[in-house]
Amino acid sequence: MKGKNIFDSIENIQNIIINNKEEIEKLDQQIGDGDHIFNILRGLEEINKLKESLIDKPIDQIFKQLGMKIMTTVGGSSGALFATLLIGMAKNYNAQSTDQENIAKMFCEGVEAMKNRGKANAGEKTMLDVLIPVSKILIECKNENNNKIIAEKVRNVAEKAMLSTKNMLATKGRASFLGERSKGHIDPGARSSQLAIDAVCNQFIN
Ligand code: ADP
Ligand code: MG
Repeated sequence: MKGKNIFDSIENIQNIIINNKEEIEKLDQQIGDGDHIFNILRGLEEINKLKESLIDKPIDQIFKQLGMKIMTTVGGSSGALFATLLIGMAKNYNAQSTDQENIAKMFCEGVEAMKNRGKANAGEKTMLDVLIPVSKILIECKNENNNKIIAEKVRNVAEKAMLSTKNMLATKGRASFLGERSKGHIDPGARSSQLAIDAVCNQFIN
């Protein structure tokens, strides 16, 4: 893993989010306050600005700085939560491990940190409903060294997980204020997370 891979991912994530801007905006208008797309785009723009200064730095420092930047510039629950994910990932990097092992461990621990921060778990109709299954499949694949195979599996798991939020009842975040009326809409954070994961998977597949 190199700084360049991370910043390529950020650019790919930015493109996929921009291409699906209207859909994400609409989802948060339906069960939230409509600012999710703005928060995500703001975060991506801010961390992209760090490319020159961070690209040659050690991996853990890059993740930490990206997280801190999001923490201080992005509003909404998603700002603090994504920042916590990235900082949690930074803390679990091990220069002695393979990329596959690192990605699995870092992502899994980052998601744990997010669960603690937001006091949420699977089944509450949040982005965790995508991130938790993805962290599990990454752990299952940590000894697989064909990145294409891992990326295909992760992509499929993330898509299925995102769709599964549609019929869930929201019990965390703004959507929970709607009670039963939160059902029937995909969670905006689940969709944006799944798109981001898709962008990174495509990077490995193509
Ligand atoms: P806000 O809800 O403050 O307006 P955003 O609109 O940016 O912030 O983000 C909304 C998304 O945040 C939701 O779609 C959901 O996926 C996610 N979310 C909200 N609360 C939590 C939580 N406690 N844990 C994990 N994710 C959460
Ligand atoms: Mg919102």
